[in-house]
Amino acid sequence: MKNFYDLTAAELADYLVSKDIKKFRAQQLYKWIYGQNETDFNNMTDISKTLRAQLPELLSLDLPAMLTEHISKDGTRKYLFDMGEGRSVESVLIPSGDRLTLCVSSEVGCNMACKFCYTAKQKLQRRLKASEIVGQLLGVSSKLPEDMRITNVVFMGMGEPLDNSDEVFRSIEIMHHSWGLNMSRKKITVSTSGIVPEMHKVADSGARLAVSLNGVNDEVRSGIMPINKRWPLTDLLQACRDYCDTTGDRVTLEYVLLKDVTDSIEDARALYELTKDIPCKINIIPFNEHPNSGFQRPSERAIQRFQNALMDAGSHVLRRKTMGRDIYAACGQLTTVAKQQNDFQPATV
Ligand code: SAH
Repeated sequence: MKNFYDLTAAELADYLVSKDIKKFRAQQLYKWIYGQNETDFNNMTDISKTLRAQLPELLSLDLPAMLTEHISKDGTRKYLFDMGEGRSVESVLIPSGDRLTLCVSSEVGCNMACKFCYTAKQKLQRRLKASEIVGQLLGVSSKLPEDMRITNVVFMGMGEPLDNSDEVFRSIEIMHHSWGLNMSRKKITVSTSGIVPEMHKVADSGARLAVSLNGVNDEVRSGIMPINKRWPLTDLLQACRDYCDTTGDRVTLEYVLLKDVTDSIEDARALYELTKDIPCKINIIPFNEHPNSGFQRPSERAIQRFQNALMDAGSHVLRRKTMGRDIYAACGQLTTVAKQQNDFQPATV
């Protein structure tokens, strides 16, 4: 027995063939299930009755259950999904102009130990299966009105996607397939803390790459992101250049502004120097608070000063709008363990 949602179209076809079922049935199943939202094999009228009766023994259609939905004042929505055995992950839906972006999780907890991130306080408990990643997209989509569709998917929720590459890229393959959800690969972004040897896989998958840079030299970066000790800046930036060379696309560099740690004018200039030969856009993210983080968000003035210095130097820079802070749905605020410990304190915006 396999879970249908764990299988790419090619894997489904191979599996069916191994059970003496014709390959073209894979296309029919993909179209029914992803295209028509039909999950009752009995209603799949172009499939023979004998096969319809056989399918429930071969394929399960289990998806993670949605436990809660929180709605922010700014329209952001946060969903909690049950991953079994008391584990859960969060997904965040972010409306912005014509776009409806879903931020998905790839792991329960995370082992990267970035000092400023709330998820990192929850050590890695389990890597998600493709069905559990695709399931976040299907679960949230099912809550939307008929005429609304998720346009973009970003792997920026809980977990480090490149610590779970096989299932992450499998889920991208599934989301992309034209028989099914038919999402453009370019509308899917994988964000990494910098697992350098896995980064080429993002280019291979056709998805877009975002990298959490967050420090302008190895000393600062290693201080807040232990992964930098393993793969320092030179290696990380080379992997970014390789991505740009292979795809012809720009890489997104995320840079969290931490008061007195990463937010000085000198940092802004150093950031420009470090990245000036890389086709990139820089996304600055003012730090979002969480309990006992030990870090502070810079003042509005300091954020502006940093952004201007970076722009004046010549970088292409965007400030990521803080969304969903009142429901703890902003960057770096996702966790599913604190709530169980009762220290869940939504911030006031
Ligand atoms: N593990 C991946 C995916 C997480 S994406 C990665 O590191 O890229 C989450 C983004 O939010 C990352 O760019 C991270 O640096 C940033 N972030 C983490 N904690 C934050 C916080 N408290 N405030 C603002 N941004 C944060």
